[in-house]
This record gives sequence, C-alpha cells and structure tokens, in this order.
Amino acid sequence: MSECIFCRIVRGEIPSKKVYEDEHVYAFHDINPVAPVHVLVVPKQHVDSMAHLTAEHEAAMGRLMVAAGQIARDQGCTDGFRTIINTGRVGLQEVYHLHLHILGGADPLPPMLTR
Ligand code: 5GP
Ligand code: ZN
Repeated sequence: MSECIFCRIVRGEIPSKKVYEDEHVYAFHDINPVAPVHVLVVPKQHVDSMAHLTAEHEAAMGRLMVAAGQIARDQGCTDGFRTIINTGRVGLQEVYHLHLHILGGADPLPPMLTR
C-alpha cells in the first residue's frame, strides 16, 4: 500500500474534511489554509505531479477540472477564485501526489506572484 499522504487520505486512513468525491476525484480542505476557501482536489489514482501525466490520465484529469469548477461554486466562490498546481522543485511542490489548489473568499486574493 502506498505511503503517499494523499493516497492515504483518499483511502480514509488519514482523516480529512471531504468536500467532494466521485469515481476519479477526491477533494478536501487544506490543513493549513492560506485563504478563506482553500480546497485541494486530487486524482484518486496516484500520479507524482503534473510533469508525470500521460494519456492514461486524461479522463481523470478532465473529470478533476470539471469537478473543481463545481466545487469552487459549492464553496461559495461565485465571483471568481484561483487554481494553482505546484509542480516539482521549481514550483515548490511539497506533496508529490498531484493536487489542484482552489483558493477564494469574499475579497480579491493577493497578486499571484510579486515582481
Ligand atoms: P503543495 O505545496 O505541494 O502544492 O501543497 C501541499 C498542500 O498540502 C499544502 O497547502 C499543505 O497545507 C497541504 N497538506 C499537507 N499535508 C496535509 C494533510 O495531511 N491534510 C491536509 N488536508 N492538507 C495537507
Ligand atoms: Zn498518492
């Protein structure tokens, strides 16, 4: 069995605050939120990062993107939100199970990157 922390969350071995689940996708609140809404959306099938995606992941990742938009609306992000996928060393990825961050709240978010 995978020791990957997000695989363990998907399997229910580590508790999480679930907001959505379907055949391909699991979504839960980030444990250390940086915005009023901070949800992580992951494919149930383990893949290390966006750089590791292949054609076999197309259906799951398509489902993930559609679900993310629905989850954002369900979380009250009716006037916009931000999605981020950090990848690899340069992207400062911390958890090597691909995940999409949904960030939002009542007020506009800070600039994505400072110049
Ligand atoms: P990354 O930097 O890899 O894009 O983001 C990893 C995210 O996972 C961070 O925002 C961090 O707070 C979150 N995270 C790490 N471990 C856990 C955990 O055990 N449970 C939850 N819900 N979030 C986690
Ligand atoms: Zn995993």
